[in-house]
Amino acid sequence: MHILVCGGAGYIGSHMVKMLVGEGYEVTTFDNLSTGHAWAVHGGRLVVGDLLDEAGLRQLFAAQSFDAVMHFSAKSLVGESVRQPAQYYRNNVVGTLNLLDAMRAAGVKRFVFSSSAATFGNPVADRIDESHPQQPINPYGETKLMVEHVLRDYAVAYGLHSVSLRYFNAAGADPDAALGEEHDPETHLIPNVLKAVLDPGRGLKIFGSDYPTPDGTCVRDYIHVHDLCRAHLQALHFMDREPGAHGFNLGNGRGFSILEIIRAAEQVTGTSIPFEWQPRRAGDPPVLVADATLARTALAWQPAFGNIQQILETAWAWHRKPAAGR
Ligand code: UDP
Repeated sequence: MHILVCGGAGYIGSHMVKMLVGEGYEVTTFDNLSTGHAWAVHGGRLVVGDLLDEAGLRQLFAAQSFDAVMHFSAKSLVGESVRQPAQYYRNNVVGTLNLLDAMRAAGVKRFVFSSSAATFGNPVADRIDESHPQQPINPYGETKLMVEHVLRDYAVAYGLHSVSLRYFNAAGADPDAALGEEHDPETHLIPNVLKAVLDPGRGLKIFGSDYPTPDGTCVRDYIHVHDLCRAHLQALHFMDREPGAHGFNLGNGRGFSILEIIRAAEQVTGTSIPFEWQPRRAGDPPVLVADATLARTALAWQPAFGNIQQILETAWAWHRKPAAGR
């Protein structure tokens, strides 16, 4: 089986490529390397190209036949999406439409989409399941929800089967530390906490101390990147049994505040981690915690990294590794 992985040079996509290759799949990565890295593509073939280049996409699909597409390519920073929505709508919506239309033209019928908890907006329940209203509060979440709607309509009209996986907060690194999170600039909490340990001069900022949460900082559900990738494999099998467009929430079902993450990181690294308070970051909901019961039952998905300590340990092993080894 030949899988096209769009965004296979990025954080989550590169872990997916490594897992697929390890499971014996033939893999082609398509990536514009805007935020991803060629060194992160461990196996298969890398085609450098952009989803906004329709002719390039036609060539890609003409040169190979694919059994399914996994789509990780997207701009994915909430704060940036508030400041630069045009980039987000063009990349995430127009780029995905181009990809889906190239799939249609080539007769490729299976699609796994990286959606997001950001499609839900401000939660109206303690834990978010698939019946929760989807009312994004930032352009990033809007772009992901728009694609989910496109997928629903493409399933009906064109028989394109899809699974949208709504990640809560992807975290951690490849358990053998061959891959990990590497963004420049880094905006995500856990890498920033660990980088502050390795380079104390860099400092750590916490955005917002006055949220309606127990300690005033934002609460998130951190899910290991390996567990996210496992769900993609399960989604491939699921589509064979269940045609149509489906959506599943992926998280551990437990929320951690920023201060709790810092305390857990202090235990894992054996270092005290100072930080400074900053105002709230635009577009951040106070709490996002998944109810992933449906994924557990329908996809037979079971996260292997159930506690935050384990997640932080894999991330720490990656960040401590000398960059020259990457
Ligand atoms: N955050 C922070 N300092 C950082 C990075 C993030 O305080 O250096 C906060 C951010 O405002 C949010 C939470 O940590 O409340 C998680 O942010 P992240 O960017 O990791 O993930 P997101 O939830 O935006 O996908």
